[in-house]
Order: sequence, then C-alpha cells, then structure tokens
Amino acid sequence: MAQQQNHIFYKWGGGVEPDLPRVDHATDEFLVTESGEELVDAAAGAAVTNLGHSVPGIEQIFESQSADVSYLSLSHFSHDAPEQLARTLASRSPGDLEKVFFTNSGSEANEAAFKLAREYFRARGKTEKSVVVSRWQSYHGATFGALSATGNTLRRRGFEPYLTDWEHISPAYPYRWSFDGTDEEQARAAARELETTIRQRGPETVAAFVAEPVGGASIPAAAPHPAYYEEIRAICDEYDVLFIADEVMTGFGRTGPLFAMERYGVTPDMMTLGKGLTGGYTPMSAVLVSDAVADEFARDDVSFAHGHTFAGNPLSAAVANFVVEQYTDGVLERGRARGAQLASELDALRDHPMVGDFRAVGPMVGLEFVADRASKAPFDPELKVYEQVYDAALDRGVYTYPGRGSVDGVAGDHLMLAPPLTLSKASVSRIATAVEAAVEAVYDRVS
Ligand code: PLP
Repeated sequence: MAQQQNHIFYKWGGGVEPDLPRVDHATDEFLVTESGEELVDAAAGAAVTNLGHSVPGIEQIFESQSADVSYLSLSHFSHDAPEQLARTLASRSPGDLEKVFFTNSGSEANEAAFKLAREYFRARGKTEKSVVVSRWQSYHGATFGALSATGNTLRRRGFEPYLTDWEHISPAYPYRWSFDGTDEEQARAAARELETTIRQRGPETVAAFVAEPVGGASIPAAAPHPAYYEEIRAICDEYDVLFIADEVMTGFGRTGPLFAMERYGVTPDMMTLGKGLTGGYTPMSAVLVSDAVADEFARDDVSFAHGHTFAGNPLSAAVANFVVEQYTDGVLERGRARGAQLASELDALRDHPMVGDFRAVGPMVGLEFVADRASKAPFDPELKVYEQVYDAALDRGVYTYPGRGSVDGVAGDHLMLAPPLTLSKASVSRIATAVEAAVEAVYDRVS
C-alpha cells in the first residue's frame, strides 16, 4: 500500500481514490480496521493524538459545550471557552507570550503569524520589513504563504511560483552539517547563516525567522545544540527580526516538555500551535504572541484585519481546554519515559548498516536510512525506501510516519515514530519489534 498518495479524492457515490484501509474505530493507541485488524498507532495520526483516542470525559465536553453554544462569530461576541483557553495557554507558555490569536490549522497559524509580523513592523513605521526567512527541509503548512516558508522540496514542487520572494537557510540538521568544530561551534555557525541572509537581503526588509524548534515531518527529531537558538535569538534581537517558533508538531509534550522551546530556554516572539492542542478531537490552532508585539496592536490606528470563520469557536475551545488540562506533569513524564523505552528497545538499530542517523527526543524518534553509513549516501529515491519501511511496519501491525527528501529535498528516506504520550509499555515493545523487523526486511531487499 503506497503511503504518500499522489492525490486523495473522495468519490461521488462512495469510496475513496486510491483505496485506503478503512478504520472502524479507535481507542487509546489502537486503530481497528473494518476487517478487525488492530494497528498500534506509532504516529499519533500525524503527531496529533498525543493523548490517544477515546480519552475518558471527552464525550461530556462535546455534549455540555454544544448544549451551551457551539459557534459564535468571535468578531462580535466573546465566550468563556476561548477566554479560558487563552488564559491557560498564556500561563503555560514560556516568557511573555501572553496574547493568543486563534486559527484552525497549523498552516493558518503560520499564515497569521507572518501577517502579524508584517503589520507589527508597519505599525512601527518599518514598512519595508516583510520577508520571512525559514530553513530548507522544513514544513510550515500547505497554504501558499506557509508553503513559501516551507523548505521541503517535495511538498513545494509543482506549486511554483510561490506568492512571496522569501529566503531559506540551511536546516538545523547536525548529522549533515559540514561545519567544522565542536557541536556547539557547528550550531553557532549554522545559526549565523541567518545573520548572513539578513545582511544580504537588507535588515530593513526582513520581518521574521520561522523554525521548527526540533525537526518534524522533514527531518524528524533533529535537535540542534542549545547554542543554535541562543545565537538565533541574539541575531533576531540585533536586526529587529521576530523569531517565530513553529511548535505545531513539537508542542504539547512531543519532545518531552510541554513546548520544545523549553528545551532551549529561549523565548520566541510568537509561537504557533496546532495538532496536540486538541489532540485531534477538533481542528484548532493558535498563535501565541508576546506582549511586546501585541502592544503595537493596542493603538487605535493599528488593526489586524485577518480572521477565519471558525477560529476560536467555543466547541473547539472547550475541547482544547479539556485536552490541555490533560497534559499534566505526570502525562509529560510518561511520554518521556515511553520515549526512552522506545529508544532503548530500538537500540540495535543504532548500528544497523541501513540506519545512518538515529535520533530520539522525548516521545519522538527519527530514523534516517542510508545506502552507505560511511559516506552517508542516501538510497536511490526510485527505491522509495521510506515507503517500503512504512509498508513492512504496517504489515506487522504498526502505523508509522515516513518521509523523504531529508538530504537535499529530493533524496533521503526517513521514518518518524511519534506515538501518543500515554501509550502502554507493551505497545512500545510492539512498535519496537515491528519497526526493527521492518527495517531488516527492507534491508534484505535493498542491500
Ligand atoms: N507546521 C508544522 C511544524 C507541521 O508539522 C505542520 C503539519 O504537519 C504544519 C505546520 C501544518 O499544519 P496543518 O496540516 O494543520 O495545516
């Protein structure tokens, strides 16, 4: 079964093109197909269902909130649920990220952050500042603005020309960096590409730098040395550029702490959230905005004429309030413990001839497959190794998140494991056994 489909259309008269396994129901970390097969969801959907399926109490939230009010135009009315959610997010996020702007998807959250950045500088009279710098091998969403910032070639290809003339720097990808020196020196050198780009482009034109704190869909679990973000923060401050942390995937315990930026002790100016915010129970996303940025919008002559019909709707907000409450210290700790167990049970893959880089950060594991460990040469993209490993794991009852293009945007195969934080120890073992066997099976075919 091919994983990355060319297209997915639901068909007039029923069914879907191409054929996909049909899920009958889901509980905890399990998907049960109509044919009765139980799959362990080692990807939490797309790193979304961080608490698993059927969390006790969720039905009552839907019931009671829809009995009160499901939808309101938040341009004209407010309601306790989104207000409560904003308070919670502000209190649990780092630094002075005190204001919240609601959106519906990760892509929309990034779009809103980019527009907020432009408007913020316009308010300060710096009208030329509009460029967003991002990194190659990144993913910030599918809409045109978010795609312009996205650096994943395969997800960009076919949609040229993009709407904006933006810039990309090297990915934060220690395994493939060619800088000299210690880990810290390499991290600083990689971050300084941002400074070079800002200077080349002209600081008066650059509004923001956006980055996934730890790699996600394109280079899963790639985590640079802390000096990287220390340097990024300093450069952004020096050139009056806003730092947007895209925590759509890394937020809500995915890398260990609630937010991945906590690993680095660096506060961004904006943080975009999605996925785990509602754990997949409803679509919702948000932009957390620092007081310093938000204050510019308090003036009468500054507005932010941007919004989406469903953004912040009370039903999604009530669900998010319930879900965010579940990310207790205990649940985050459980995610870290299960992540450590997973990494340890996959230990044999660290030296596997087909695994070039083995990355584990909290409950997130990234395996990069190479044809040759010494030269780090990727497999021929035609072999679709990522898809072969995905299929082999699925045949063994485990659903994973594969990807390609991690080397140069085209070549490079990888697999991400990002299970619910709440999964059982037994399920971790099932994942590890299946993934190890899947890698062996594919290695036998391609070596
Ligand atoms: N940003 C990151 C880091 C993501 O991983 C994703 C989705 O995978 C997005 C943005 C886009 O989110 P959405 O698919 O909800 O638009």
